Amino acid sequence: MKIVIATSEAVPFAKTGGLADVTTALAKSLTQLGHDVSLFLPYYPQIQARGAGASCAVESTGTDLSIPIGTHQRSGRILRTSLPDSELDVYLVDQPLFYDRRELYRENNVDYQDNCERFIFFSRGVLEAVRQLDLQPDLIHAHDWQTGLIPALLTLEYSQQPDFAQTGSVLTIHNLAFQGQFWHWDMTLTGLDWKHFNWREMEFYGHLNLLKTGIVFADQITTVSPTYAREIQTKEHGAGLDPVLKFREERLTGILNGVDVTEWNPALDPHLTKNYDVESLATGKAACKAELQRLMQLPVRKDVPLLGMVSRMADQKGFDIIAGCMDELLAEDLQLVFLGTGDETYEKYLRQVADENPEQVAVTVGFDEGLAHKIEAGCDMYLMPSRFEPCGLNQMYSLVYGTVPIVRAVGGLADSVVDASAANLRSGLANGFSFEEYKPAALLSAVRRALDAYNVPDQWQQLVTTGMSTDWSWQRSAKRYLDVYAKAIAGVANRNADE
Ligand code: ADP
Repeated sequence: MKIVIATSEAVPFAKTGGLADVTTALAKSLTQLGHDVSLFLPYYPQIQARGAGASCAVESTGTDLSIPIGTHQRSGRILRTSLPDSELDVYLVDQPLFYDRRELYRENNVDYQDNCERFIFFSRGVLEAVRQLDLQPDLIHAHDWQTGLIPALLTLEYSQQPDFAQTGSVLTIHNLAFQGQFWHWDMTLTGLDWKHFNWREMEFYGHLNLLKTGIVFADQITTVSPTYAREIQTKEHGAGLDPVLKFREERLTGILNGVDVTEWNPALDPHLTKNYDVESLATGKAACKAELQRLMQLPVRKDVPLLGMVSRMADQKGFDIIAGCMDELLAEDLQLVFLGTGDETYEKYLRQVADENPEQVAVTVGFDEGLAHKIEAGCDMYLMPSRFEPCGLNQMYSLVYGTVPIVRAVGGLADSVVDASAANLRSGLANGFSFEEYKPAALLSAVRRALDAYNVPDQWQQLVTTGMSTDWSWQRSAKRYLDVYAKAIAGVANRNADE
C-alpha cells in the first residue's frame, strides 16, 4: 500500500509530546511490514540539529510550491531527508516565514497568532507536494487539528483529479483537548467555499474548527485507545465534539499506541549507565537508580522507593491531585523526581516543594530526552494520575523498563495498566496500580498500596516481570491501522461506484 503520513511532529525531528513518537513509530512499522510510506512534516529549524547526523542530510527535491492562502499566494519548497535504518521517505514542507520559529506552536505560553495560516499552508502543501511528486497514495493519514484540513481538501478539491480519485483518508485524534479553533474569518484562508462553514461541517459555535473538519471529512477516524474512543463520545470527555463523534461512531476506531522498541528498550538504551533486561533487572536497575539519584542530587539510597514522572506540566496530567496529597506523600519514606515543562503554576509549585524537601524531591524544569529515559529506568514506580489520557506513552515505557505504573484508570491508561487487585495478581495479569476517582485521596491510596507491595519482593517481582514480558511493540498496532486503511479505501471505492 502507498501511504502518506502528514504530521506536525515526528521524532527525532520535532517533538512536544506523544504525537511525535507515534507518527515515526507507525511510519517505521508500516515500512517494515512492506508498505511504501512517505512522512511529511514542516521544515522547522530544529530539524537540522535533531536529525540523526550526516547520514540524514536534508536535500532539495526540486519541487516548489505556490499555495493560495486567502488573497495571497505563498511560496514554499519540498525538501527530503531520511531516518537511519529505515526505507522511509521523509519530506519537509519549507517556508521559513511559517516554521522558522523557536518553538512549534507557542512561546511563553502564548500560541503563535498565525497558527491557522501556518497549518493551512502545511495541509495544502502536503497535497500539492503529493501531486507534484506523483506519489499517487492509496491513503493519506492526517494527525490532529494541524492536518485536519487535509481530509476536507481531499474530498472537496483533490478527489476530482484522477490521481486522487481512489485515495482514502484517515484522521487520528491524539488529544481532543487541542482542536485548532480559530475565528470565523480564517475560513477565507482555507480557500474552501463559505457554504462549508456550517454546523455540520467546519463551523463550531461560530468558529472555524480544524479538528472537527477532519472528523467530518475523513473516511475513517481513529483515536489512540479503545477506552478513549468510547469516552470522547460522552459529554464528560467529548470537549464539545461528542455529538459529531457519536454521529461518526461507525467510522471511529480506538487503537492503542505501541512502544518504539528501537528508542525505548532498556537492553539497548544508550542513555542508561547500565543496560538490562528481565534477567539482569536487579543489578541494571540498581545502577540506573543510583545514577538517577546522584544526577538529581537526592540521597543515594538503594532501599527507598523512587517515584518518577515525565510530563507536560498541564492540568490534564493530574498535578493538582498530586499537590492535594503532597504532604501525605512526603510523610512516607519515598523519593520523587519530576521532569517537565509547561504551566508556570506547576513549575513553581514543584520547584518550591523540591527546595523545601531536598532529601525527598527533585525537579528538572525543561525538555530533556536523555533524562526522560534515565527516569524511566532509574525509578521503581511511575506516576500518571491523569484527569484524562487519550493513550499515554510513559506508562507503557515504564512497563517495558520494569518500573511499576500508578495511574488513573482513564483512556489508554485503563487499556494498558492492570491493577494489582487480588484477583488480577492471582491470574498473573496485574502489572501496576490504578484508581478511579480523580481525587487526591484516591491517588494516595493507590501509592500506599504500591508502597506496601514494594515491600513484598515476590509480589513486586511478579508485577515487574508481567509488564516487561508483554508485547508492547508497534507491529501489533500497525496491523490494526492497516485494517482501518483498508476500510477507508473500500469506502472511497464504494462511494465512487455509487456516483
Ligand atoms: P502527551 O502526548 O499528552 O504529552 P504522552 O504520554 O502520550 O503524553 O507522551 C509524552 C511524550 O513526551 C513521552 O515520550 C514523554 O517521555 C515525553 N516528554 C514529555 N515531557 C517531557 C520532558 N519534559 N522531557 C522529555 N520528554 C518529555
